[in-house]
Amino acid sequence: MTQKSTFSRRNFFKAAGATAAATLMTAFDSRADTPLEAGSMPTRPFGNTGVEVPILSFGGSVSMPQIMLGQAFKWGATYWDTANSYMGGDSENRIGKYLARYPQHRKQLFLVTKSHAWTLRGMGADLDESLERMRTDYVDLFLVHSVSGIDELDNAKKAWSEKKKAEGKFRLFGFSTHRNMEACMMGAARLGWIDGIMMSYNFRLMHTDGMKRAVDACSRAGIGLTAMKTQGGGALKTTTETEGRLVERLLQKGFTQGQAKLKAVWEDPNIASICSEMPNMSILMENVSASLNRTRLSKGDKQLLQCYADETRADYCSGCTRICEPALNSAAPIGDIMRALMYWRSYGDYRRAARHIHRISADCRMKLAALDFAPAERMCPRQMAIGRLVRTALAEFDA
Ligand code: SF4
Repeated sequence: MTQKSTFSRRNFFKAAGATAAATLMTAFDSRADTPLEAGSMPTRPFGNTGVEVPILSFGGSVSMPQIMLGQAFKWGATYWDTANSYMGGDSENRIGKYLARYPQHRKQLFLVTKSHAWTLRGMGADLDESLERMRTDYVDLFLVHSVSGIDELDNAKKAWSEKKKAEGKFRLFGFSTHRNMEACMMGAARLGWIDGIMMSYNFRLMHTDGMKRAVDACSRAGIGLTAMKTQGGGALKTTTETEGRLVERLLQKGFTQGQAKLKAVWEDPNIASICSEMPNMSILMENVSASLNRTRLSKGDKQLLQCYADETRADYCSGCTRICEPALNSAAPIGDIMRALMYWRSYGDYRRAARHIHRISADCRMKLAALDFAPAERMCPRQMAIGRLVRTALAEFDA
C-alpha cells in the first residue's frame, strides 16, 4: 500500500542535485593533483575465468564520444561493452576510432560485444564485422544478445564458440538476458560451458528467491556476472512514506539515488561488474565516484530499498515473459512493449522506445489493441496493469 510522503519531493531533488554536484566537484577537486587515477577503480574476478574486471563497465548503447572513452580509460573503467547493433554500428566504430589512436590501450581493455543473429553464419558475420569496426583482432567476451530461454544455447553454439576461441577471435563466451533471467542463469550453470552472463539485475530483482538461487548457481559454476539495468526503471517516481525516509538517508550519506542503486548491486560480491549507460560526463563521474566511495549501504538502507521496491512493484516489469505471454492465446509480445515503456518513461528515450514498438508488425499491433489482457494480468506476479500499459504504448507510438 502506498501513502503520500510528508517529505517534499521538490526539496529532495533540489538537495539531491546539490549533493550530486558536491560529489562531482569533489571528484574534480581531487583531480587537480591525483584525480580518480587510472587503475584506481576496484576490480573483481570475472567468475573463475582468471580475468579481473573493473566493477564499473562503460555501456555502449548510447553515444560514446572520444573524450568520454578517454576519461573512462583514465579512471579505470576499462570494461567496455557494445553490440553489433548498437547505434547502427556507430558504437563499435567509435571504439575502433579510439583504438586506432591508442592501440597500446587495447590490452588493458576488457572488450565485450554481442550479436543478435540467431544463426551461426549470422553470428560469425557479426563477429567479423565487429572486429573490423573496432580495429581489433579479438574481443574479450562475445555474447549472444538477448537470450530468453536456455534452449537457445545449443550444442551447435557450443561447438561454434569453441572454434572461434581456438581461432583467437574471442577469449570468453556467453549471453545477455533481459527476460526470464533466473531460468536462463540456472540453465547456464548446468550447461558448464558458459563463461559470462550479462543480465538485468537491480535492487528490485536481487531479493527474490529465484534470483538469489540463480546468482548462487552461476557463482558456483564459475560464471562471470555483469549486472545491467541496475537503476531498476529509472528515478524513484512513486511517492511513498518509505521513499521519503529512503531519500533522507541517502542524502545524509551523500549519495545520489543513482549511486545508491549501484551500491546496492555492488553489495553482492558475486556480481563482477555493473554495465551502465553513461550518456554524459556527469553521469560517468557520478558512477566512477560511487565505485571509489568506500561508504557502504547499511542494513537499514538496504531494507528501505527493498521495502520501496516491494511497495512499487507494479511500476517495474521484471521480464518474466514465460508467465504472462503464454496466458494469452496469441503471440502477444508483452515483454517487448514493457521494455519500450521502460526506455520511454524511465529513461526518457522516446526514439529507442519507438524503435522497439515499431519492430512489432502493424498487424500484430492492431490485434493487441483489441486483446483482453485479463488472463495475463491475473498471472503477473507484480500485478501490473498490462492491458492499460500496452494500450498506452500503442497509442503513443502509433500516433
Ligand atoms: S508483465 Fe508481469 S508477468 Fe509479464 S513479464 Fe512483466 S512482470 Fe512478468
